[in-house]
This record gives sequence, C-alpha cells and structure tokens, in this order.
Amino acid sequence: MTRHASVWEAGSDKKHATPSGKRTRRTAPPRARQANPDVVLVLIYVGAVAATARCWASLSSVVGAVDWLAWAGRLSGLLAGYACAILLALMARIPILDRGVGTDRLARWHATGGRWTITLSLAHMTFVIAAHSVESGLYAGTIHLLANGEGVWEATIGLVLLIGVAVVSARGIRRLMRYEIWHYLHFFTYIAVFAAFAHQLTGPDFADGGLGRLLWLTLYVGVAAALLWCRFLSPVRRALRHRLRITEIRWESPTVISVYLSGAYLNELGAEPGQFFRWRFLAPGMWWTANPYSLSAPVNPRYLRITVKAVGDHSRALTRLRPGTRVVAEGPYGALTAARRRSERVLLIGGGVGISPLRTLFETLPGKITLVYMARRDEDLVLRDELDAIAARRGATVLYTLDESRVVPLTGRALRVLVPGLAEHDVYICGPTGMTMAARNALRRAGVPSRRIHLECFDF
Ligand SMILES: Cc1cc2nc3c(=O)[nH]c(=O)nc-3n(C[C@H](O)[C@H](O)[C@H](O)COP(=O)(O)OP(=O)(O)OC[C@H]3O[C@@H](n4cnc5c(N)ncnc54)[C@H](O)[C@@H]3O)c2cc1C
Repeated sequence: MTRHASVWEAGSDKKHATPSGKRTRRTAPPRARQANPDVVLVLIYVGAVAATARCWASLSSVVGAVDWLAWAGRLSGLLAGYACAILLALMARIPILDRGVGTDRLARWHATGGRWTITLSLAHMTFVIAAHSVESGLYAGTIHLLANGEGVWEATIGLVLLIGVAVVSARGIRRLMRYEIWHYLHFFTYIAVFAAFAHQLTGPDFADGGLGRLLWLTLYVGVAAALLWCRFLSPVRRALRHRLRITEIRWESPTVISVYLSGAYLNELGAEPGQFFRWRFLAPGMWWTANPYSLSAPVNPRYLRITVKAVGDHSRALTRLRPGTRVVAEGPYGALTAARRRSERVLLIGGGVGISPLRTLFETLPGKITLVYMARRDEDLVLRDELDAIAARRGATVLYTLDESRVVPLTGRALRVLVPGLAEHDVYICGPTGMTMAARNALRRAGVPSRRIHLECFDF
C-alpha cells in the first residue's frame, strides 16, 4: 500500500513524458454530448407506442375471431418492425448513445431486443397464418399467403436469417467459434432487416401512404444513415485525417505490452480518459479485425498509448508488430468517463489489465481518489511506477492486492474497512467479468448505490 501527501490539481497544465523521454503538453479533451440511459429507454418505449398508435385506434372496429387474429398479427408485426430498427440503431455506434449509455450496456440491450424481435416476428407470422386459416384450413391458408402476400417470401427469409444469428449468439454456441466469425455472421442481421422492410410497407398502417408511412421511412432511412456514417464513413475519414502509426512497443510484464502510436491532430480525436477505440492494425493477417483496447494514457498531441495483455491470436500478434505499422482507430467509445462522477470521492477498482482505463482516470479525475489494483501475481501488476508517481503527485492512495495473498477479498466488509466512507464514493470498476461482477456485488452489499457504481467488462 502506498499513501502520499502532496496535492495534485486536476486539469492543471501538466507536462507529460513520452517513452522516448520527450516531454509534451497535455490538453483536456473537449467534453462530448452524451445521452442519459433512462431518457433513451423512455424514448424507445414512447416510439413503440407511437408506431402502433393507429393500430390501437382501430381496436374498436375489431369483431370476431378472424378480425382479432388479424389485429394481433398487425400489432406484433408493427412492433417487430420497430424493434428491428431499434436493434440496428443500438449497434450503429452513434457517439452520443455510446458515450451516454455505454457500449457494454448497448450490447446487452441489443441482445434483449434481438430476442424480442424474433418473438414478435414469430407471433406475427403465427397470428397472420391463423387468421388466413380459419376459413380455408392451415395448408390452404399458408399457401394462399405465400402465393399472394406482398413481400412474404422476403420477410420469411429475413426471419430465418434472424433466427440463425440468434442461434449462433447463444452463449454455448458462441463460445465454440472465433469472435470474428461470430461478428461477421452478425452482418446477416442487416440483410434480414432490409429483406423484411418491403413487406412492412405493405401492412394496413402504411400501404395507403400518408404520415405514418413517411415517419416509418424516416425511421429506417435515419438508422441506415447512422449505420453508414458511424460504422463505415466516419472511421475512414478519421483514418485519413489522423494517419496513425506504431512508434514503439514496450514490454510491461512477461505477458503485457504497451503500444505507443503517433499521428496527426490527435487532440481532435476527442477521446476522454477511460474510453477505448477499436484498433485495426494494417499488418498481414490483422487488417480484417478490429479489437477493443482502452487508452492507458491520456491523449496528448504526440502519442496515444494502449496496454494489452496477450491472451489470444490478436493480442499475441500485437507483440510482433513493428514500429511504422499503420493503424486505424475507430472511436472513441465507452462511458467509463468523468461524466459519470457525482461525488468528490472516487474509488477505482482494477483487475489485471483492466488497470488500463483506470490508469488514465487515476491521473485525471478531480477530487479525493483511491485506487485498488488487483492482480494474480506480483509480475502482473503493470504500470506500477506510473501509478506510484501519480499517487505521489496528487496525494492519492494506491493499494496493490494479489489474489494469492487474499489481502483484500472482494467482500462488502473488507471494502468498507479499506475505504472509509465507502458509500459516499463513486466507484469505477474495470477488469475480467468475474472480478467486475464480484466487486459490484460486494459494493452493493457495502451500501454503495447502483447509480454510483460504473463498470466496464473486457468482454461484451
Ligand atoms: C471495452 C473493452 C476494452 C478493452 N480494453 C482492453 C485493454 O485496454 N487491454 C487489454 O489487454 N484488453 C482489453 N480488452 C479485451 C480485449 O479486447 C480482448 O482481450 C482481445 O480483443 C482478445 O482478442 P484475442 O484475439 O487476443 O483473444 P481471443 O481469445 O480471440 O478473444 C478472447 C475474448 O476477447 C473478446 N474479443 C475478442 N475479439 C474481440 C473483438 N474484436 N471485439 C470485442 N471483444 C473481442 C471475446 O470476448 C473473446 O472471447 C477490452 C475489451 C473491451 C470490450
């Protein structure tokens, strides 16, 4: 444990040393706009009500079994179509959403939305087939629908593709395949959604044109534009502007490296401490995959830095890259930033290489700050000199704990003893999922309200 006494002023015009010893001025990044997660959820629900308003209004004219089945089919179809658009919007990497809600929470919402979309689509299909089968029977009703329903074939193909994507996303199956294969299979979702789109426009709510159809088209065109801009055009534009290259690779431990990158107009990247980019290294065998790594040093005009643990193919390949390799960084993403802080007192809990984003927050968050850094073995505690120097400069506390020694087991009681006034702290946690969840549960037991616990897991 290290305790230091000097006072550090956040936001002061401090100098920052590069690996090669040159000193450079650090400037505060511009604070980006971000959406409130609760407001986003409310907007999604309000949108669902608005999308189905005409359908609800027609309820009074529903008479008899066929009408009821057709009406239920209409409602579930509308909701399924709306859910498809939301599903894509959540994954469009729209900066205001990503910074406000957080990439990992958006991914969880997306997964839940996917299950709803499939359930609603299946319900829509079932109700519509049932409505057509009441008089002529199941076989004749289904054939009639397939032969005469507008866009029914395309919608059916879309649904099959969606179910396929859902199956490969099931935890047990996903674990069997490489992340990249699973990721690229997800692109079938776009085909599925746009295949079903023509069918949606033939429904009773939109077939006659009017405002409803115009709003529906606006929703889909808006989502398509956001996807095109945020996921494809903006990263290309930024790659051309910033022209990132590796300048140095430094070993921090037997399994962890820091990669230093230089480029043009780095301050324009707008990256805040705690955020991450998806990094595409333009080297043989690596250019087709973009993996997320957090910045482990605040952005400054001379360099960016990530600190990476070699765990698999991509991260191990990084250790073999050479200075000069060109890099495309998509981002910045993530909501583990100063914007989440409500209290003057902050506790940071980092596990393993989860120290990366916390290292930048430790340096830049204002207020009274304590860092608890957990690792398996002594040699896994990386960036230790920097953490000690920051602690000394700003009079902060840093505690190193090793799993083996069980110095600080993750229990509410232990954390309360360790950090006086724990319940009044904002707590930022980053690390492997198991450790992150254990820390969150311990903090809740120790009386820290959920709204003060901010976390990022290193897997989505
Ligand atoms: C927001 C975020 C920030 C991260 N920051 C850091 C960091 O600063 N330092 C660090 O060492 N690690 C970080 N990681 C973890 C890092 O991304 C993975 O360890 C790395 O991508 C593994 O790739 P691999 O091919 O070496 O290993 P693999 O064995 O192929 O992958 C191991 C696991 O990493 C995840 N993963 C793999 N590829 C991707 C991808 N393209 N996108 C998302 N997840 C993927 C999957 O859950 C996979 O099961 C971060 C992860 C996330 C989600």
